[in-house]
Amino acid sequence: MEIEIATIGGYEAVGRQMTAVRAGDDVVIFDMGLNLSKVLIHDNVETERMHSLDLIDMGAIPDDRVMSELEGDVKAIVPTHGHLDHIGAISKLAHRYDAPIVATPFTIELVKQQIEGEQKFGVENDLVKMEAGETMRIGDHNELEFVNVTHSIIDAINPVLHTPEGAIVYGLDKRMDHTPVIGDPIDMERFREIGREGEGVLCYIEDCTNAGKKGRTPSESVARRHLKDVMYSVEDYDGGIVATTFSSHIARVKSLVEFAEDIGRQPVLLGRSMEKYSGTAERLDFVEFPDDLGMYGHRKSVDRTFKRIMNEGKENFLPIVTGHQGEPRAMLTRMGRGETPYELDNGDKVIFSARVIPEPTNEGQRYQSEKLLSMQGARIYDDIHVSGHLNREGHYQMLDALQPQNIVPAHQDLSGFSSYVSLAEDEGYKAGRDLHISRNGQMIQLVE
Ligand SMILES: [Zn+2]
Repeated sequence: MEIEIATIGGYEAVGRQMTAVRAGDDVVIFDMGLNLSKVLIHDNVETERMHSLDLIDMGAIPDDRVMSELEGDVKAIVPTHGHLDHIGAISKLAHRYDAPIVATPFTIELVKQQIEGEQKFGVENDLVKMEAGETMRIGDHNELEFVNVTHSIIDAINPVLHTPEGAIVYGLDKRMDHTPVIGDPIDMERFREIGREGEGVLCYIEDCTNAGKKGRTPSESVARRHLKDVMYSVEDYDGGIVATTFSSHIARVKSLVEFAEDIGRQPVLLGRSMEKYSGTAERLDFVEFPDDLGMYGHRKSVDRTFKRIMNEGKENFLPIVTGHQGEPRAMLTRMGRGETPYELDNGDKVIFSARVIPEPTNEGQRYQSEKLLSMQGARIYDDIHVSGHLNREGHYQMLDALQPQNIVPAHQDLSGFSSYVSLAEDEGYKAGRDLHISRNGQMIQLVE
């Protein structure tokens, strides 16, 4: 059976991930993401109003024109998890394919909300829920399986396409977490089985982020302990404490909510995306929040809540807000600019349970936001975080478990690939032979 891989997006930068695998007559698309930095750099771009081709030219969504070179029918579109660089282009591109979108329940719900928010593109693909550990037939000869992985968002999986020539493992976005705060540990046992059963692993497509970092990525429970220590250390402070984190990082939001209560403060979630992700996770029973946990997204209700906090005393509350990257319209940035009714005093604490995404726009915006907060007297606690991606030893362990015949590095630019390439070459692979370095819009023929 012919096996071909189209590396469509995310092979020249992080963002707008999209990869297609053809096994005989069947094609499966993995991820269909957005490159948010290409959108945000322009001041007033409303992506919902733009044509897909203009968004492709902007570099915001994957250039899927190469799909016409793949001779087969798309049988499924499979987003691995709910981050926007993996699902953000579904609402703009999926209607071009007559295939269902297959994902885990939390991811499907986020996809559904996104499609509803951007109906202009007319995406009407079926939405099919599939849990980690389950499988689905793809055509007459292939099978799709979801393997549970751990990442900085709940309900993440690595999809595996089982073909008569061996398994294709799409390894994007995971950390090897054996003590996660929500959900099951990564299913390494299944990865080891897949590496040894049948024809083994024909190809492993891997997220190279952090391949240059030594050692092992710590578990989410380490970030949780760090956060607990920081929050308990300010228990006796009788002024304002504000926290921010990735709104899609439900495990972290859960920890913040719990420790706020431990130190005698009422947590409250503020900002549109805080309300969206936490509300969705709670509705789908991934997390149980206290009954009286307030979640407010709209500007008016947020400002009303800030007024209430100022009236009842800042020392009684812990607002958990958007703005960990200094995004200009996010809540914490507005607080820094003095645009909300919440007044910061000398000595108030601002907890960043996040790290700055290393990208010039973020770095500049975050710098500005922190400076504005500091100028009002705020004390900054930053980097209370662990990465959602594998470090070098995690990558080594994955190669050891899967023993792939071919590797395709992904999710980085060329310099980001280099550490992974040297790791793989140390393990006996060779660039140009069985280690395929690819660019956006290229094709790799694995079996002719
Ligand atoms: Zn991710």
